[in-house]
Amino acid sequence: MNAPALPFDNSYARLPARFYARLAPTPVREPGLLRVNRPLCETLGIDADWLASPGGIAVVAGNAIPGGAEPLAAAYAGHQFGQYNPQLGDGRALLLGELLDRDGRRFDLQLKGSGPTPWSRGGDGRSPLGPVLREYLVSEGMYALGVPTTRALAAVTTGERVMRDGIEPGAVLARVASSHIRVGTFQYFAVRGDREALETLLGHVIERHYPQARDAANPALAVLEGVIARQAGLIASWQHLGFIHGVMNTDNMLLCGETVDYGPCAFMEAFHPETVFSSIDHGGRYAYQNQPGIAHWNLVRLAETLLPLLHDDQEEAVALAQDTLAAFPRQFSEAHAAGLARKLGLSGLRPDDDELVEGLFAALAEDGADFTLAFRYLSEEGGPEAAALADLFQPGDALRAWLPHWRQRLATAGEDGAARRARQRAANPVFIPRNHLVQAAIEAAEDGDLAPFHRLAERVANPYRWDPADADLARPARPEERVQRTFCG
Ligand code: AMP
Ligand code: MG
Ligand code: MG
Repeated sequence: MNAPALPFDNSYARLPARFYARLAPTPVREPGLLRVNRPLCETLGIDADWLASPGGIAVVAGNAIPGGAEPLAAAYAGHQFGQYNPQLGDGRALLLGELLDRDGRRFDLQLKGSGPTPWSRGGDGRSPLGPVLREYLVSEGMYALGVPTTRALAAVTTGERVMRDGIEPGAVLARVASSHIRVGTFQYFAVRGDREALETLLGHVIERHYPQARDAANPALAVLEGVIARQAGLIASWQHLGFIHGVMNTDNMLLCGETVDYGPCAFMEAFHPETVFSSIDHGGRYAYQNQPGIAHWNLVRLAETLLPLLHDDQEEAVALAQDTLAAFPRQFSEAHAAGLARKLGLSGLRPDDDELVEGLFAALAEDGADFTLAFRYLSEEGGPEAAALADLFQPGDALRAWLPHWRQRLATAGEDGAARRARQRAANPVFIPRNHLVQAAIEAAEDGDLAPFHRLAERVANPYRWDPADADLARPARPEERVQRTFCG
């Protein structure tokens, strides 16, 4: 099949040369299809049959460059676990170019695992199969859960081997994002004192993500406000789902507000606020309960890069930045409370609900309750699906002791019955990409069986509707299945 014309319009490639390095992906030996995301192809206006054909597979593998693509590796810097690294950049990914979707929205088409770049720093520029499948499952799961996120368009094997802990099969992921512009992209130019580049980058971000900032009295400030608002909402949605990102470095925070970099991430099962999965997060810097504070810290780093653009007088600039940054904890708390209210079946939380909410989380921690199923249990309580769920989840003593307080609160709010449950169900998923399921899908794929991966991909695309046929995909890991540590890949 001939390659259909992809309507590339590469605005990042039109930025000055010091923003990136132009280079082609390194071809692979024997590309093979893992999966094409048909619904996403549909929204993006990409022919899924072509993408799944040898011609499309060759593009995802980096063996063919479609007309109009201008592949490049982007420059960026970043704080990794609090340590500043002035030069990171795409070390194993390339932006093929930008496309416009059916609604005229612009998105990046990126290949991850496409070979070495000037920023590979000794790395091989490749991805093993495991991390590609993990990102596919978790990013698409997050999308279905309603969380802003980069997405997986397609994944292919390379027919090559990569060395990590052992020898693993290689793979490439075609990733889609509103853009890959990071806090670290601003840091890259700020540390070089390149004010002109900062202005250019800011203008680009305004055009792509914050057009309303164009006419603001202070466009840099308006962008900062916009990023803060999106991150407050994003992190609140992670907290609502028990999602632990695991590597919230400033190079992994996007200006567009989408979740990016599904390396050592995981959904928490037994609730505990200090939960950490990442094998490299020794100090627990990116633990569940630290995510809002870390996001704020990252936004302070963004504000620092914008100081020269915020005001000519740097003292004034600092004052403006501080005022604006102060909005983050407030906005996060509001978004968090609103989401918790939905999860609890309430139209909103009142100040005197603090005790109720704290009591719930203390009970979940005491019981070591499965975070996802505990909230789903609350959604079904007294309803027709309660019996089905009883096989999966039984409240522990602490949760049992808390339930009467919640029931009383529902009763005083006049919030009970089927309508309440339906609303609550829409906030409390039953199917998430649990770690042991992702792990089992990866292990089967490494042995040549893609069926568990495909099944899980289908399942997590529909996380809120109960389906007894997939009950095995709803239960938490048994002790022997439990994944304790996750890796960057
Ligand atoms: P990450 O932890 O995935 O955000 O990656 C941090 C930095 O390491 C980025 O600059 C990546 O491009 C780079 N990197 C990670 N893995 C590799 C690899 N296998 N080869 C080259 N660069 C890599
Ligand atoms: Mg990254
Ligand atoms: Mg990573």
